Amino acid sequence: MHVDGRYFFPHSARFVTARATLEDDGVLKITGEDNAPLAEVRIRAVQVSSRLANIARRLTLPDGACFETYDNDGVDDLLREARRFGADSWVDRLERSWKSVVVSVALAGLAGYAFVAFGIPAIAAKLAQDTPPAVSQLLAEQTMAALDRTYLKPSTLSAADRAKAEALFKRVAANEPRGPGGYHLVFRDGGVLAANAFALPDGRVVMTDELWHLVRNDEEIEGVFAHEMSHVNHAHGLTRVYEASLVPAAIAVVTGDLSQVSQLAVILPGILAQSAYSREFEQQADDDAAATMMRIGARPARLAAFLERLEAKTCGKGGCGPSWLGSHPRTAIRADRLRAEDSKK
Ligand SMILES: [Zn+2]
Repeated sequence: MHVDGRYFFPHSARFVTARATLEDDGVLKITGEDNAPLAEVRIRAVQVSSRLANIARRLTLPDGACFETYDNDGVDDLLREARRFGADSWVDRLERSWKSVVVSVALAGLAGYAFVAFGIPAIAAKLAQDTPPAVSQLLAEQTMAALDRTYLKPSTLSAADRAKAEALFKRVAANEPRGPGGYHLVFRDGGVLAANAFALPDGRVVMTDELWHLVRNDEEIEGVFAHEMSHVNHAHGLTRVYEASLVPAAIAVVTGDLSQVSQLAVILPGILAQSAYSREFEQQADDDAAATMMRIGARPARLAAFLERLEAKTCGKGGCGPSWLGSHPRTAIRADRLRAEDSKK
């Protein structure tokens, strides 16, 4: 029984065409083209690499020489023969190495999961902070246009209500990092999005008429504005866009499927419409809102009361309708947290 391949001299890249023959006495004999002997070793002393697709098999000899061949079936036949000469132990080792391949694949899967769970959010946050204002503005304009096309309608708030909302908005903005010029209030009828408010990456804050009508005192809406400005300050919208697009982008890179990339342009309107911020982002915005409220002499407990009123209005037995509450975290937990901030005063 023999296999054809190449013989590499010990610890050298130099090779010659060769043939490996398993003799009846369990000796592996390697000969060159002219049948000249190159090596002779007991088969049980030879290490054989695992079969992996069409990669060449390697038979490594004790002196560091090796025999390489693409004849996978030939090597498998040779291995079967070799069992007769007490080579079982390394056949077992080969099988164990298959198990280690399975373990390696599982580990690679875990690493992939860790990258998606921890790496992508970190990269997304960094990209969001480094995004130039021109890009934020363009994305905000396109997102606003998409929201107007899909969900929102022109506001019907009275001039007096608008003026009052603007004044409160300016008062909050004056206490935020970007200052009064860094944020702009936009009025809309919420349509199917009902009582809602959301922040765009360029500092625009959209407030729906329905949300305004639920407000019972100035401090409540100041809390809502401060919460939205926090989303602007931390670039939460951009971060979500990058998080949502890095996964398709990564898939596109790995699979070459570029259709994934076209999803980027439609991501942000969907995120805003579904209030699909993470629990961490909402908590951060609530904490920031509480801090801003304290600075301007408003009470975070007012925002807590507003959240509860909004929940009572939009949530029924069949769950909650669309609203500023989003899907999570739970309103009761958010309200408790805000009241805790209040009592620290
Ligand atoms: Zn929020």
